[in-house]
Amino acid sequence: MNFLEEEIIKNGTIKPGNVLKVDSFLNHQINPQLVYEMAKEWQIRFKDKNINKILTIEASGIALATMLGYILGVPVLFAKKSKTSNLGNDVYKAEVKSYTHNTINNIYVSKSYLNENDHILIVDDFLANGCALLGLLSLCNDAKAKVEGIGIAIEKGFQEGGKKIRDLGYQVESLAIIDSMDSFNKKIKFR
Ligand code: 5GP
Repeated sequence: MNFLEEEIIKNGTIKPGNVLKVDSFLNHQINPQLVYEMAKEWQIRFKDKNINKILTIEASGIALATMLGYILGVPVLFAKKSKTSNLGNDVYKAEVKSYTHNTINNIYVSKSYLNENDHILIVDDFLANGCALLGLLSLCNDAKAKVEGIGIAIEKGFQEGGKKIRDLGYQVESLAIIDSMDSFNKKIKFR
């Protein structure tokens, strides 16, 4: 069992609707030592890729992406979930269905920060059905930026997102892949 799987077993809780709650170390309170270990692991797994920017989506991806950006020495761009007035009109936009809130939201990045010269590593906290990733990939596609890979903290391998995104040809590196979780017995099985 790796360090993230151990943390999930120790501090994660299973909620109805196949939701894993990791508020004590990732989604609300953040464990920086753990995030550092995660970022170092992504650095190893993507060591052959030429990456000049990290892309994530607010909010929970930002801490992971920032740590990785610091280690790789590259900037971090996060897609915003609302189009604030200071974002301007020159934006790329994609639709994302929220897994946890069951709503459809637009996400935005400014055209100033994503373009055809970018070699992007996408990072996010969870991969479930793949909607968040498809949105981020669509932003990169619109900007003609090249996606070099995708780093995920926790993939719920029993949902379809991982297969969908890998079938598109992307290298997806998930640090913990859950094959099953049972809220009744409180059991989590990793791949
Ligand atoms: P997807 O778009 O792949 O269906 O879901 C990924 C997004 O939904 C992640 O960015 C994450 O915020 C949220 N999410 C999906 N499943 C879970 C879960 O089991 N627990 C938590 N905390 N967030 C999840």
